[in-house]
Amino acid sequence: MKTIIEPFRIKAVEPIRLTSRRERNDLLEVAHYNPFLLRSDDVIIDLLTDSGTSAMSSAQWSVLMRGDESYAGSPSFRRFQEAVSKLMPFKHIIPTHQGRAAESILFSLVGSEGKAIPSNTHFDTTRSNVEASGAEAHDLVIDEGKDPSCLHPFKGNMDIEKLRRFLEDHKGRVPCVMTTITNNAGGGQPVSMENIRATAELAHAFDSPFIIDACRFAENAYFIKLREPGYENTSVEDIVREIFSYADGMTMSAKKDAFANIGGWLALNDDSLAERARTRLIQIEGFPTYGGLAGRDLEAIAQGLTEIVDEHYLAYRLRTCEYIVERLTELGIPVVLPAGGHAVFVDARAWLPHIPPLQYPGQSAVAALYEIGGIRACEIGTVMFGRKTDGTEEAAAMDLVRLAMPRRVYTQSHADYIVEVFAELNDMKDELVGLEIVEEPQSLRHFTSKFRRLSFHSN
Ligand SMILES: *Cc1c(COP(=O)(O)O)cnc(C)c1O
Repeated sequence: MKTIIEPFRIKAVEPIRLTSRRERNDLLEVAHYNPFLLRSDDVIIDLLTDSGTSAMSSAQWSVLMRGDESYAGSPSFRRFQEAVSKLMPFKHIIPTHQGRAAESILFSLVGSEGKAIPSNTHFDTTRSNVEASGAEAHDLVIDEGKDPSCLHPFKGNMDIEKLRRFLEDHKGRVPCVMTTITNNAGGGQPVSMENIRATAELAHAFDSPFIIDACRFAENAYFIKLREPGYENTSVEDIVREIFSYADGMTMSAKKDAFANIGGWLALNDDSLAERARTRLIQIEGFPTYGGLAGRDLEAIAQGLTEIVDEHYLAYRLRTCEYIVERLTELGIPVVLPAGGHAVFVDARAWLPHIPPLQYPGQSAVAALYEIGGIRACEIGTVMFGRKTDGTEEAAAMDLVRLAMPRRVYTQSHADYIVEVFAELNDMKDELVGLEIVEEPQSLRHFTSKFRRLSFHSN
């Protein structure tokens, strides 16, 4: 059979409601053209994020009941720890309430003024946590990764030469080297095993630990199986174990590739760093056998980890984005190629060339997607990355619209609807106008900024 079907059937359903165009027009104004400020029950297809939005399996719902809520020594923690270390054999596994808490703990210990932390591309919360420690965050992805239309099998790869120069220029000031798999901010693009190995070797040659931001490790592993010579016949589980064998630690959001609605962890091999991390954990999250989580959350993660490495699921998962990318390409809408793992990225700067980057073409497209079809998406561009720490503003490397696909939530007819909304938008795209920010916080402005639509001929 040619069609890769959803490898599950539906046991519980949640109704979704299509509002009228006029309603959405008003709701958008009330939300100041920022979809983060919309109410989710006013959204018909919610592609804001794939984080914490997964549909849990019947097996996950079952084990919730088994959750042991003891303060210390819970068997739920042991099951969590076993499930994690089966795939990621680190010495110390420290549960947190989500990924950013793991980042905050790690960087509060290793980061400080004068230090610099390179990555292929830091995710927004990662960058923010690095900078909050006083350290600098640097993105060293390969040049192909910054070109939306360039076809390269591993556009998330670290530029090894740039990393070498960086480590020479910053000798003694790099407390860790990071790699994000898949590269979320760069388009959900994978990193090859060869690149992970080379990054680790280089980091170690300069006495820096190598830490993986592992949120989408299973998707990345399946891309390696599909695209990297020599891995065709290796199981995803074995690919995953090899990836982590090169690392000294990891940060993880269980809201991504663990099918959980909440959770995360920090894993480390270094005993003394782990001890300090646990002390910090107790200060801000909780006792080391629950972190910021309930026992039942630990159970859901443990079960989710056994399901996420299923290759039928991963084939369907990667096909979902590829399917939408193919349809949008047929419509002539510029998208990041090849399709990423968890999301479709529309190149709004190329699609809406009449809107300059500082008038946020991505945000404009996101607002229009909601207005036309009730779909919620997220800008990844100048709104998210344009404000510098010194207060100045400049265009981000790309202005993208991210359609993040929740795991196991939507079907192919939902995907067809998304494509239909894009087709309608494509016919009227020249009428879309830019936006200006009327209110913004000091950092992470994309979450809460308020916008105003510029009138058509304002520039
Ligand atoms: C989501 C995400 C994080 C942060 O995890 P949270 O659970 O949302 O705090 C960090 N890095 C990447 C690449 C992510 O996608």
